[in-house]
Amino acid sequence: MLFMDFSRACEQLEGTSGRLEMIDIISRFLPNLTPEELPVFVRFVMGRIFPDWSSRKLGIGPNLLYEAIGYVAGIKKEQVIEKINTTGDAGRAVEELLSIKSQTTFFHEDLDLVHVYTELIAIAELEGKKSQREKLLAVRRLLGNAHPLEGRYLARIMLEELRIGVGEGSVRDAIAKAFLVDSALVEHAMQALNDAGEVARLAKLGPGALRDVRITQFHPVRMMLAQQGTIADMIKEHGQIAAEFKYDGSRFQFHKKGNWARMYSRRLEDVTGALPDVIEALLAATEHDVILDGEIIAIKDGRPMPFQSVLRRFRRRHDVAEAQEAIELVPNVFDILYLDGETIIDLSFSERRKILMNVVNRYVAPQVVSSDPDEIEKMYNEALAAGHEGIMIKVPASAYTPGQRGKNWIKIKPDVDTLDLAVIGGEWGEGKRAHVFGSFLVACQDGGKLIALSRVATGFSDEQLLEVYDLLKDRVIKKSGKEVTFEPGLVFEVGYAELQVSPTYEGGFALRFPRFIRIRDDKDIPDIETLENIRERYNLQSKSAQAYKA
Ligand code: AMP
Repeated sequence: MLFMDFSRACEQLEGTSGRLEMIDIISRFLPNLTPEELPVFVRFVMGRIFPDWSSRKLGIGPNLLYEAIGYVAGIKKEQVIEKINTTGDAGRAVEELLSIKSQTTFFHEDLDLVHVYTELIAIAELEGKKSQREKLLAVRRLLGNAHPLEGRYLARIMLEELRIGVGEGSVRDAIAKAFLVDSALVEHAMQALNDAGEVARLAKLGPGALRDVRITQFHPVRMMLAQQGTIADMIKEHGQIAAEFKYDGSRFQFHKKGNWARMYSRRLEDVTGALPDVIEALLAATEHDVILDGEIIAIKDGRPMPFQSVLRRFRRRHDVAEAQEAIELVPNVFDILYLDGETIIDLSFSERRKILMNVVNRYVAPQVVSSDPDEIEKMYNEALAAGHEGIMIKVPASAYTPGQRGKNWIKIKPDVDTLDLAVIGGEWGEGKRAHVFGSFLVACQDGGKLIALSRVATGFSDEQLLEVYDLLKDRVIKKSGKEVTFEPGLVFEVGYAELQVSPTYEGGFALRFPRFIRIRDDKDIPDIETLENIRERYNLQSKSAQAYKA
């Protein structure tokens, strides 16, 4: 497939807002693609380059891209940035700049879809001192051969933000429709493989190939997630429920084959290098080949320490040994997804738990199974007394569903209302805080768009403001007076007193007394709160306010 044909497909999709129509368009392309093209097409159309299990990065920041665009268009980088600011979209800006240029150049080498992909892989693989320069040259080469329309999508793919609104659900249904297979089967394969591209390739081979999928060790799968709920509702619905402590640390997924082990964070980054002590402990805890799910906490004098201390260790690249001495990290294992070559996510939780107890001899999180609310409440009180966040309630009959925030895992913690929100803008501080950002604009998500919700200016220590500044300083994409706009990526947990209806922000809500709680660098943009959820919280809040008044 030519990259031009892919770009036309994207253009068609960009002009479509109906989900069914989108599925239809994608499904018409898929059957004609070769096994080599299929995974690339599918990932690109979702704005991704690498499989989701891969923590590989292209390593092209906006600055490098703008410089390459400037070179190809024969203008300065600053002019490129200006153009992007006026069009509000790097893709459109590149398209316009290339179309001005193409009036004077006639030579174009046709770009091929798979060729573009292999070039991007080569860019990602460039490492070392000179790599930025080499990356720049490679991007210039690619863009230099691009027609304006190709430039629009190439630039957006390189920024991993395609903006054509094709989500995983649409791709799943398009694959099902194109190859006449059940969409639940496609979904299941996507959960196990964590790469929609590979799933499309298998779907072309038929339902048997999809049915046979196994989790691949060292290709991390997404973590199963929890919702809020109540003990009473869970007992009413399921009778017996399983309760565990809710540890306030960092989620991990541990893959072990023989003596070889890797550890992945909640964002599926490989954090093995930073955690040699935990790896060693878990390697010694089982003789089997396993994939384990759990939470690492930091312990001092027998009590859990704040979650930030664990994250600091996750991020550590240097002086790992020194950090190890200062703080003890303990893994708490609460699930098993794979055992000695078999994928076991479809077994019930109670069966998985039995297996876990049999094959892992330490660190398994204690569990209470009961249908008695008093017993579960007792565990909740114990959890809080021991310094944990609360408890997790799990449905014993449920399968492990990677990436799903379903009703099979429910979190119970004391009432602090917090939201995980993306940091999209900010303002320089004043006085002694003039060298850092002092307040932040945070956003929730709605159908793939970020919607501003509040400004957060309190709750930060000076040290935290410095830390936040370090994380954001290279993400500035627009400046205007004291205001800056950030490329979204950083997530804050923000506490608040109340949700209010407000015309100030486009989502129609604002936070009363917003307060910074912590950086959630275990979370990514897709994990932030949705507008729909906020609407629901608002309704709940006004219901309880009415009940209180009555
Ligand atoms: P939240 O991040 O508030 O949505 O809560 C869900 C998170 O709690 C999970 O992603 C885990 O990181 C963490 N967690 C702590 N203890 C447990 C447990 N026993 N079972 C599952 N998740 C847990």
